[in-house]
Amino acid sequence: EAVLDLRRIEKSYLRGTPGEVTVLTGLDLSVAPGEVVALVAPSGAGKSTLLHIAGLLDSADAGTVAISGREMTGLSDRARTAVRREDVGFVYQFHHLLPEFSALENIVLPQLANAVPQTEAAARARKLLDAVGIAPRADHRPAELSGGEQQRVAFCRALANAPKLLLADEPTGNLDPATAEQVFGTLMELVRDTGLSALIATHNLELAARLDRVVRLANGRLS
Ligand code: ADP
Ligand code: ADP
Repeated sequence: EAVLDLRRIEKSYLRGTPGEVTVLTGLDLSVAPGEVVALVAPSGAGKSTLLHIAGLLDSADAGTVAISGREMTGLSDRARTAVRREDVGFVYQFHHLLPEFSALENIVLPQLANAVPQTEAAARARKLLDAVGIAPRADHRPAELSGGEQQRVAFCRALANAPKLLLADEPTGNLDPATAEQVFGTLMELVRDTGLSALIATHNLELAARLDRVVRLANGRLS
């Protein structure tokens, strides 16, 4: 059964106004358990819109979204928020870490929000930091970390609650090519080790080609 199943998704902005922008026009996408899919799209094609709909941050105008076989359409906002917190991890181009908290705390906090006990949350955070090779940086704040280290912490945070699905929007787009290459490699190891499914948007065709499958978004649909 698919971890993510999008069917006939339609989305426009400013609907019914002269400025209406049609972004997705009957898009279908299914991501299998453990499958890592690259999403390649020209700028403005609707990559972020697609990731937001898949991650329940935004709603489609039509079509269905199912996560692990559970249909999300018609769920209350509260139920959708619970699914988003428990089953979906996000990584963005910019880390969006909380600047006043340490790397460790940034990974602990989302677990506390899911009622994981403090000591367990800290232990998991340390394990994740170790897995991405930056355990010695646990007590550093984001500003005291390099760009690559910041993104590694952001990956750990995304995986803090052991999601089923990882959604990443240009996760290494802000890094220089050599660092991007290294950090992407770390992300892939982490994803493979946890066996999670992922949809990773990237402009980097070389990195995309290393994933299980590449889908291209153009004219509102995938090919
Ligand atoms: P991408 O991530 O591929 O660059 P987006 O999903 O951000 O593309 O946006 C797709 C299209 O929708 C773009 O033309 C963008 O300008 C437009 N768009 C995105 N968000 C809004 C919004 N809130 N209101 C109006 N237009 C939007
Ligand atoms: P990069 O070569 O990736 O640009 P930096 O030169 O920013 O990295 O940082 C090199 C190392 O120094 C990193 O491991 C980072 O954690 C550490 N570092 C950078 N800035 C600070 C700081 N203000 N306080 C403590 N450590 C820092």
